Formats: sequence, C-alpha cells, structure tokens
Amino acid sequence: MKFRTSFRSKLMLLTVVPLAVAQIVTLFAVMRTVEKDVDTRARESLIVGSTVVAEFLASRGEQLRTSVEVLAADFGLKEATATRDKATILSVLKNHSKRIHADMAMLVDLKGNTVASTLDAAENQSGGGLGIIDDASHQKVETTAVFGDSAFHVFVVPLRAPVSIGWVVLGFRVDHLLEDRLASLTGLKVSIVPTEMAPTPGLVTDEQTLTYSLPFVKGGSEFSVMLQRSLKEAMLPYVEARRGLLIFAGILLLLVAFAGVMFSATIARPLRTLASAAQKMISGNYEGSLQTASDDEFGELASSFDSMRLAISEREQRISHQALHDALTDLPNRYKVLQILTTAIESARDDRRSVAVLSIHLSRMNEISSTLGHKASDELIIQAARHLRVNLKKDDLLGRTGTNEFVLVLPGRDAQSALSRVEHIEQILASGVSLDNIDVALQTVVGIAEYPAHSSTAAELLRYASIARTEAEMSKERIRIYQAGHEDEFVRRLRVVSDLRGALRREEIEVWYQPKICLQEGRVCGAEALVRWPHPELGFLYPDDFIPAAEQAGSIVHLTRYVLTKAVKQCREWADKGLDLHVSVNLSVRDLLDEYLPYHVLQMLKENGVKPEQLTLEITESSIMEDVARAVLVLECLRDIGVRISMDDFGTGHSSLAQLRNIPLDELKIDKSFVMTIINDAQNEAIVRTTIDLAHSLNLEVVAEGVEDEATMRRIASLGCEQAQGYYLSKPVPADEFLLWADAFKPMVFHERRNSDRAFAS
Ligand code: C2E
Ligand code: CA
Ligand code: CA
Repeated sequence: MKFRTSFRSKLMLLTVVPLAVAQIVTLFAVMRTVEKDVDTRARESLIVGSTVVAEFLASRGEQLRTSVEVLAADFGLKEATATRDKATILSVLKNHSKRIHADMAMLVDLKGNTVASTLDAAENQSGGGLGIIDDASHQKVETTAVFGDSAFHVFVVPLRAPVSIGWVVLGFRVDHLLEDRLASLTGLKVSIVPTEMAPTPGLVTDEQTLTYSLPFVKGGSEFSVMLQRSLKEAMLPYVEARRGLLIFAGILLLLVAFAGVMFSATIARPLRTLASAAQKMISGNYEGSLQTASDDEFGELASSFDSMRLAISEREQRISHQALHDALTDLPNRYKVLQILTTAIESARDDRRSVAVLSIHLSRMNEISSTLGHKASDELIIQAARHLRVNLKKDDLLGRTGTNEFVLVLPGRDAQSALSRVEHIEQILASGVSLDNIDVALQTVVGIAEYPAHSSTAAELLRYASIARTEAEMSKERIRIYQAGHEDEFVRRLRVVSDLRGALRREEIEVWYQPKICLQEGRVCGAEALVRWPHPELGFLYPDDFIPAAEQAGSIVHLTRYVLTKAVKQCREWADKGLDLHVSVNLSVRDLLDEYLPYHVLQMLKENGVKPEQLTLEITESSIMEDVARAVLVLECLRDIGVRISMDDFGTGHSSLAQLRNIPLDELKIDKSFVMTIINDAQNEAIVRTTIDLAHSLNLEVVAEGVEDEATMRRIASLGCEQAQGYYLSKPVPADEFLLWADAFKPMVFHERRNSDRAFAS
C-alpha cells in the first residue's frame, strides 16, 4: 500500500533520525570534552609534578647546605686539616654525613686534591668532577658532580681558618633510587639525564608523550630531571569509558529505532484501519464498528469516520428502500416484487409447487379521485393496502405495481385455489374502507397467472396476470385466469388503443356509410355511419377490432366526436348535392355519460347548417343501464335539441319495451340476429311482429337491420317495418362510393317490387 511506504516511513524518519543525530552529536561532544580534559589533566599533573620535584630537590639542597656549613665550621675538622690528621678528618666527615644520611662527604684541598672522602677508591680516582674548586671567589656552591660512575647532588663550602684552606663537600647520590622516589612522589615517569640530552626546560609535547624538564639544581647544572607522561596511558581510562559510551549509544540508537518503528506503526495503525474500512465501504460493505477506546485525535477521527459510516449506510439503506418500495403505501414496488417473485419461483421449482400471481385493480378510482380529489383516493389506496396487508398469510407477498394496482403473490397456490382468496379480498375491500366516516365500497378486478402453468419467469407472470385482469375489465368480469395465447390479442388491443389518438389526429380513420331505405316510398332515406381503420401495420380494422378497446381506454369519446363531425359534414355535402338523407351515428356507454356531448352536437349541426332531425344517434340497452339517470339526462338534452334517438340491437338485451318507456326514443332497430332468420324461424318472426306492433303503439319508428335478401325485405315490409338496412341493399361503403350507389339506386325498381307485393304488404 502506498500509504504505508510514505506516511509510516516519513513518520519513522521524523522520529528516529533527529533522535539519532542528537545522540551522535552528544556522543562526539562528550568524547571531545573528555579528550580535552584528559590532555589538560596530563599537563597539569606534569606541572604539579615539576613543582613537587623542584621543591624536593630544593629542600635536599637546603639540608646539604645546612649540614655542610656546620661541618665547615667544625673546629675539630679545621684542626685536623691543619694537622693533616686524615683519620680524624674522615671520622668527622663520616659523623656529619651520617647525621643527614648523606651519601658522600669529602674534603678537598685548594689544589683540588681529595684530602679525605667517604667514597671508595674507584670513585675517588676521578674526583675531578668538581669544577668549582677553581672558583677564585671561594663561594659556596650547590651543584651536581660525577665521581667515578656515580652522579651526586653536592653542596660545596670553603673551609676557612680563617683563610680558605680547602673545600668541604657533602652530597646525595643521584641514582635510580632517587628517580624511583621522585616517581612515587609525583606519579610520573622520572628520569635524570645529562642536561645536554634533555629538552629545553619547561613543557614539551610530542604525539605520544608529554615531557617536563627542569634543571636538577636551580640556576642550571650538568643534570636535568625529566618528568614524563605517556598520552596513551593517560587516555587509557578514557578509551575504556569511550568504548562503554559507544556501546551504550549503540544500544540506545537501536532502542530509539525500535521505538520509532513501534511508534510509527502505532500511529499508522488507526490510519490503516480507517483506510481499509474506507476500502470496504467502497465495495459496499458497511459492517463493523470503527470506534476505538483511545480518546486522542485518532480516536476522534475514528468516531467521526464511524458516524460517517453509519450515516452513509443508513442513507444507502433508505435510498435502496425507497428505490424498491412505493412511497404511498411502503409496499414493495414492481422491481422488488420481481425480485421476491423470482426467489419464490426458484424455491417453488425445488419443492414442485405452484405460485399464483394476482393482479388486483381497484375499479372506479378515477371517478373517485375526480369527485373526491386525489388526496381522498390516496387515502383509499393506503387503507386498501393496510387491509390487504393485514390479511396476508405467511410467505404471501403484497406489492403495489401501479396507481390503482396491487400484486399479490401466493406461493404454494395455483390459480384455481387462489380464487377463494380473491373472494376474501373482495369482501374485505367492499366493507372495510371508509373516508371521513363515509364507508366506501371498493370494487376490484383481478387477473391471475400461475407458475409453472403459464410461465416460469417473474416478469412474464406479472404481465400475464395483468393481461388477464385487463381482459376481465374489458369483458366486465371480476376475475379472470390467464389463458395462454391471449397475449397476442391483448398486445394488439393495447397497440390499437395507443395508436388511436394519433390516427384520429391524422384523420386515418375512415367513416363508411351503409344505406337505409324507407320501405313505404322505396327510396334511400338515410345512412348509418360506420368506422373503418386501415391501420398501416395491423391491416384493415373493423369496428369490433378496436371499438371495445377504445371504450375500455376511454378514447371512444374522441372517436365519437370524430365520427359525428364527419357524418354531419357528410350530411351537409349530400344536401348540397340534392340528396335529402338522414345520418345515423352510434354512441357508446361513455358518450352517454359525457354531459358536454349535447353541446358538441348542437355546435356541429349549427356549423354545418344541418337540421337536428336529420341526425339519429344510436344507443344500446346495455349502454344506458350503466348509469340510467345520467344517460337519460344526456339523452333528454339531445332530444331537446331535436336530434333523433334510436335504440340499437333491440332484442338482445334483457329489458322489455315497457322498461324503456322512460327513455326518450324515436326509433327502434331490431337486431339483425332476428331479422336474418325471420324467413325460417317462426318464433323469431313472432318476436319481430310483436316488437313492431309494440313500437308502433309507443310511437316509435322501426328499422330492420341485417336484411340480406329480397324475401326478408318483403317480410319485414309486410310486418309494417318503416326502414330496412342490410347487405341486400349495400354493405357499408366509403362516402364517394355511397354517392355512386345512391345515384344508381332506382327507387322505382324497388317500388315496383313492393307494389307487386302490395297485397301482402298491407
Ligand atoms: P351496429 O351498430 O349494429 O352496426 C351494424 C353492423 O351490422 C355493421 O357492422 C354492419 O356492417 C353490419 N351489417 C349491416 N348489414 C348487414 C347484413 O345484411 N348482414 C350482416 N351479417 N351484417 C350486416 P360493422 O360496421 O362491423 O359494425 C359493427 C359494430 O361496431 C356496430 O354495430 C356498432 O355497434 C359498432 N360501430 C361501428 N361504428 C361505430 C362508431 O362510429 N361508434 C360506435 N360507438 N360504434 C360503432
Ligand atoms: Ca348501429
Ligand atoms: Ca345493430
């Protein structure tokens, strides 16, 4: 890790290097000081030693002087000298020298000859060591002298009686004993050497030795004392100390380095921990607390980091929850449902069980939200979700997959066994939901798909359930189980619905016309407008291919207005061409709930200068039944305008004519299923006959549709039917073709035919 090589080693350098440098500098300073100190001490010891030696020698000289003076004043010695009594002289000399432990005593005559001496013969032979004897001043002298092979520190005093008659000499031996003595007195190496061999008096140094030389006798003499100190020796204790110091410093340095490593590791460890925690967080792992016991800056950093970790993980959880849950009900959304359903399918596969998937749609929610507002419908959805959730069993999954759509996944159930659950759900929602203390009965439409029968993928199961549900809605059922193969049809219908608005805008949808003839006069009296859609991809579409889907999707209202506009314009065109024709337009359920329809119709008629009674609007029983009161209201408005109302497909519904009494009607259209079979089916003929009679008694005109042949035409004419429509006359055709047909149509022909049957017609 880069971090480790940089931060940690930097930290180590920062701690170890200054310490080590400080230590080395201190070490050298100490050694330097000690070295200097040793040198100084060595010099001092030499100077002190020289003083000690000088004083020692001076005091020995003084001793010699005192003794020799007493000797020189000895009367017996003077007398013996005068008398040349050698034996007495020697005895006096011996006595005196013994007193001060002198090493020699000697009497020398003025010519320099030894008169008597305590020295042995060999030493006396070369008695010429006393150069002072020549001294004319006859003063006392302290000096060194050599007798034979030995050197002596001597004091020489003239012997006077009263004139000088000789010299008295007293001396100490200058030998190794003296050197040793001086050495032990000074602690230095002492050597007594001839002055010409000694360095100049004072302190002299060379590389190895310090030397202090001083004359044996103050004022100079043949001999000098050399005090010496070997620098190497002086340094010896210091060298020892230095070795110890170096070892100590080395150990200390190692300790410092070790401590530095430990310290930087300790400091870097929390950082490393944080770094690896950050790495973990990058990979999405937020586990594991970083809190440490330490209350230093690192502890603080760790705890801030930990708070950050918690905050991020919390936020991430919240975001991923939001991403997978519906905000309004907090139920799993589509993605989450897909995930869970996938898992449920996998475990169902292992256990060889089924999974039922229910798409539950709350009906009439659009109406509720347009009357009570969005807030109310939101509240309803929340309550519905709550009720559904309370009734969940273990392993069941409830999700919200659309505005008014829930999904219920029931592992272990197939579609059939899920039906009982649907009934339960219906009951709960029909009774359980209330808004501001008003009970609202929620209705549901449910589609069911099943694993493994329908599909083994979650997305497909959801789609199939939703297809089954939409199909149920279209066919006004409450529940439908998905049936394989319905999907293509479903997709086609969806396509149609989504293309319809554009097709209307581009006027791709055509209005064709099928003629209606007036049976009494045998001439064309009107036409029914019927839509056709040459779809660019799906081919030529008939009304049954797209009208139900358009009704379902609510876009039928636009289609109706479109057809109305076209038809009214067409009516105007025909009038302009001298054709006095009525036009009929079909209405659907939705149109009858559209309160603005009458205004639109009125405007259309006015704009085109078409008389209201030239327009007939065809309605069906079932379309009125949806909301009779409202439909009647709209119909009455239209009636007030003067537009004619026709009851289409009569006979297929359940209502009787009496029940239709309250509906404003002008015309009754007997359904083609009766008309087409009237020739061969006596029962149908009877129904048609009574229907026509009853209609007449209610002042309604009767139209027979589905007239496919001449015989039928005659029959319905004979039954008193006012108008006929059917393939026998013409199939629905485009407007221009209709014009050609109308031009070619010979009313006379029909008239003749009708006339020939007149007997039976009346
Ligand atoms: P409908 O109103 O009952 O229209 C009559 C249907 O019967 C037409 O089918 C017509 O082609 C057919 N037909 C006419 N004469 C005969 C015949 O002699 N024998 C047989 N077998 N059939 C005959 P189309 O055009 O396919 O229309 C089907 C339905 O679509 C219509 O039934 C009507 O309910 C609906 N529709 C058509 N155009 C519109 C429209 O503009 N708006 C609305 N809301 N519905 C429409
Ligand atoms: Ca019709
Ligand atoms: Ca019809």
